[in-house]
Amino acid sequence: MASQDGVWPAILQEIQRNVSSHQFGTWFRNVEMAELSADALKLRVPSTFYHDWLRRHYVETIQRAVLAVTGNSPMVEFVVSDTPPSAAVEPAVAPEPSEPARPTAPSPRASHVSSVMRAEPRRYYPVDWTARMNKQLVFETFVSGASNAVAHAAALAIAQNPGQAYNPFFLHGGVGLGKTHLIQAITHSLLAHRPELELLYLTCEDFMNHFIASVQNNERDRFRAVYRTKDVLLIDDIHFLCKGAREVTQEEFFHTFNTLYNAGKQIVLSSDCPPQELTKLEERLVSRFKWGLVARIDPPSYEERLAILRKKAQLRGRVLPDEVLHFIAENVDTSVRDLEGAIIKVIAFSSLMNRPVDVSLTRDALRDTVQRVASAITVDDIIRAVTAHFQIKMSDLQSRRRSQSVAQPRQIAMYLIRTLTRHSLEEIGGYFGGRDHTTVMHACDRIKTLISQDPSIAAAIEHLTATLRRTT
Ligand code: ADP
Ligand code: MG
Repeated sequence: MASQDGVWPAILQEIQRNVSSHQFGTWFRNVEMAELSADALKLRVPSTFYHDWLRRHYVETIQRAVLAVTGNSPMVEFVVSDTPPSAAVEPAVAPEPSEPARPTAPSPRASHVSSVMRAEPRRYYPVDWTARMNKQLVFETFVSGASNAVAHAAALAIAQNPGQAYNPFFLHGGVGLGKTHLIQAITHSLLAHRPELELLYLTCEDFMNHFIASVQNNERDRFRAVYRTKDVLLIDDIHFLCKGAREVTQEEFFHTFNTLYNAGKQIVLSSDCPPQELTKLEERLVSRFKWGLVARIDPPSYEERLAILRKKAQLRGRVLPDEVLHFIAENVDTSVRDLEGAIIKVIAFSSLMNRPVDVSLTRDALRDTVQRVASAITVDDIIRAVTAHFQIKMSDLQSRRRSQSVAQPRQIAMYLIRTLTRHSLEEIGGYFGGRDHTTVMHACDRIKTLISQDPSIAAAIEHLTATLRRTT
């Protein structure tokens, strides 16, 4: 990576994308980077109040931005500066001095809450829950497809008619597949279009901490007044309830649930597993979770990964070359979060190293974080190997020429792409001058037959495959 000079502005820019400009202006403008290593990021903040607030609400946001820019996940630490901060840490893009009301700005209800917080900064609650909101997590930036179709449609319906259909809405799926995105999208939409509704979005951990604090402070009535009067209650990562919660917390949640449900109020929950796998949770609670709609989000297919990558690049104002998107989609198939991390990393790497975004840069940028990338074979690799082996030009492969000297290498290239990568027949056709998928299928069948009949073809395929496996 280049010198550390550009790193903090790049991290700030990444943070700025994920928080409202109000939040950025308030919490990040006066933060300076004191030290950065692979293990630790030390930030200098103006006061202990900043320290507490950032530690409570923004550590994850900071960590994700650091990971995106540097590829490392250092511990985030804060040091309180003795002197007032200099003005030298202006973010690369300054936030607007004043901004129009936007969904993520604290609502009047929330600002009351945050003024209480300011008076008593050391108390856990009441939190300004809008600090948990990420302005990017809206319906407009969510890519829907077969893997999340039901969850997405239900989320849209709830945003339009909360409490009417699908109550409770229980959303589950693996890490980084879009649960928080959808739950926040519902929240953003309701904040913007249904200002009359009392909302509360929070994580299950917040709920638990708040409950424990209310027990300690003898404020259970106040706690109940907060939760049991909401029109829409959205709780993220409800599986925490069976990891850390004591019986009394589960009990409290049970009564909160019943009160809201009986009053026809909307409840939205997300979890990393389906209700029946929430062991250690009381059966009566598990069965209630199944009363409404239970929707699962699956990992995205190859085509969905491509669509998500296009969208993520576009949201950053970039159009990345197709082969780069294909390369990432082929090699990163774990979660949407990892796809997003890959895009951010490639873009940051390109600007820090001052290199154009191509497959070679992408390979370099992702080498550390994606283990399989080093061994992945791309369409480019195959086309290069085939044209070199048969001494023909790339344009010949993509042309309409049918002479044997060109047609057979073309069929071999199609066969190799089909067997060594995960591209569909349609996509392979696209690489060869927009040929039909049946042409590709025919080519693959033809080469399979020839391998068993013609030893020279078999040898060529074996040689090419071995070379590709060795060199990529
Ligand atoms: P989860 O809560 O399921 O662990 P998140 O909702 O936090 O996952 O998603 C992780 C990242 O992936 C977020 O940045 C989110 O915007 C993005 N993401 C997930 N699914 C999609 C999708 N279908 N379209 C666009 N972005 C998505
Ligand atoms: Mg989540």
